[in-house]
Amino acid sequence: MTAAENASLVCLGSASLRSLRESLERALGDQAAPLLQEVGYASGPEIYQSFKSWLHTRADVADPSELDASFLGSMVSEFFQEKGWGTVTIEQLGDAVLAIDTDDWAEAGTDTSATTPSCHLTTGLFAAFMTELAGEVMAVMQVECMACGDDRCRFLAGSPTALDRVFEAMMEGRPYTEPLASSP
Ligand SMILES: [Zn+2]
Repeated sequence: MTAAENASLVCLGSASLRSLRESLERALGDQAAPLLQEVGYASGPEIYQSFKSWLHTRADVADPSELDASFLGSMVSEFFQEKGWGTVTIEQLGDAVLAIDTDDWAEAGTDTSATTPSCHLTTGLFAAFMTELAGEVMAVMQVECMACGDDRCRFLAGSPTALDRVFEAMMEGRPYTEPLASSP
């Protein structure tokens, strides 16, 4: 691990992530979610740079685009696990959306009393990280969360248009997977 790799990263206990959310929700209610996403989004480019440096030492490639796509997911997973966030698996859902799944995510914690998906900071972080990785704007939405009793946290990543379709389906009470099967 080089000094440059960690130059812009700080180490913080995962309890701080939950405390930040609880404090903001207490003070701001529903307005806390977009603020936490913004906080997470701000970290995305630095985390991505750290991933690039890590990948360079790990797999001897200068840029993630040089990696085979099937290998990239496992490298991203290994990176986040090594940095203490948790284990992720990445899979294609339909042809327009990626699912990022985890069942031990740092932001989720062990409290399952939330009523809606609550890993807001991660949602913002993944949006910025995936945007850097893809080289085009990627939106991220959390559709399952351990904080509200689901078995896993699941984030969907795709173009804003693709995720708009998912959001519309959910608002109409349809399964989030429904529009993914017929994505153009
Ligand atoms: Zn979650």
